[in-house]
Amino acid sequence: MTLAYIAIGSNLADPVAQSKSAIEVLKQHPDLKVVAVSSLYSSTPMGPQDQPDYINAVIAVETELSPLALLDCTQSIEQEHGRVRKAERWGPRTLDLDIVLYGDLEHHCERLTVPHYGMKVREFVLYPLAEIAPELVLPDHTQLKSLLEQVDRNGLSIW
Ligand code: ATP
Ligand code: CA
Ligand code: CA
Ligand code: CA
Ligand code: CA
Repeated sequence: MTLAYIAIGSNLADPVAQSKSAIEVLKQHPDLKVVAVSSLYSSTPMGPQDQPDYINAVIAVETELSPLALLDCTQSIEQEHGRVRKAERWGPRTLDLDIVLYGDLEHHCERLTVPHYGMKVREFVLYPLAEIAPELVLPDHTQLKSLLEQVDRNGLSIW
């Protein structure tokens, strides 16, 4: 059994409802056991600024799924929530599910990089993660607490 952390992001088509629905689908999934859910947060967009604010959260799941099977699972949930991938990087989306951590695994392939490459500098991942796993230590032995000291909240607030 592996403890994985999934980051949720949404800024289109009722992001609060999208996020709550994603959490519900993850809870109902036969191959996942949801063990912690952060508060919902509101954040300002990363990248293009001509888009709505985001709702973010982080969820902890226990699973026997392989890393790529977990990615299949999160990507199919994105699709069910009307995710359309456009050319614009970091553009608006109904639902984004990023695998932040998969246990202590450090893995890189074409489809999946864990830990997620942006997690150490993204306030909208670090703060919700710290809410549910304050003592977390990353696979490279970095303490989550030390990252929080370096990353500004940048307007992030509990929704
Ligand atoms: P970012 O990855 O910078 O947060 P994004 O979430 O908008 O940007 P997407 O379009 O959702 O990017 O995903 C692009 C690809 O990233 C996906 O097709 C997926 O194969 C790949 N990917 C690599 N590592 C991960 C991960 N840890 N979690 C989710 N997707 C990942
Ligand atoms: Ca734009
Ligand atoms: Ca993302
Ligand atoms: Ca993504
Ligand atoms: Ca910042």
